Amino acid sequence: MPRQTSVQLTEATEQQIQWLKNEGYGTFTDITRIAIDRMYREEVNRMTLKVRQCPHCLQSFNTDLVDVDRHIENCERHIRETVDHKSRESAQRARAKAGTDK
Ligand SMILES: [Zn+2]
Repeated sequence: MPRQTSVQLTEATEQQIQWLKNEGYGTFTDITRIAIDRMYREEVNRMTLKVRQCPHCLQSFNTDLVDVDRHIENCERHIRETVDHKSRESAQRARAKAGTDK
């Protein structure tokens, strides 16, 4: 059952309502229902967006807005770690080789 209530409108809101009425969006009740429904759906969507984390720098990404895979591929932290790892490996190899040469 619809329930009657009252709201306080600013002049700016009243002007917007008038414009919407003129454009054929129905009564104040219709416009209020549509407006709340739109805001509700938008906010629910925003809160249920999928979030993924970069495994290298642990930054969180909204998957609907950014290409996470591209970030992960080019993640500076990841590239730095890979370079560090490779230089550590080659240093170890060099030490091992020096050890066997003795
Ligand atoms: Zn990253």
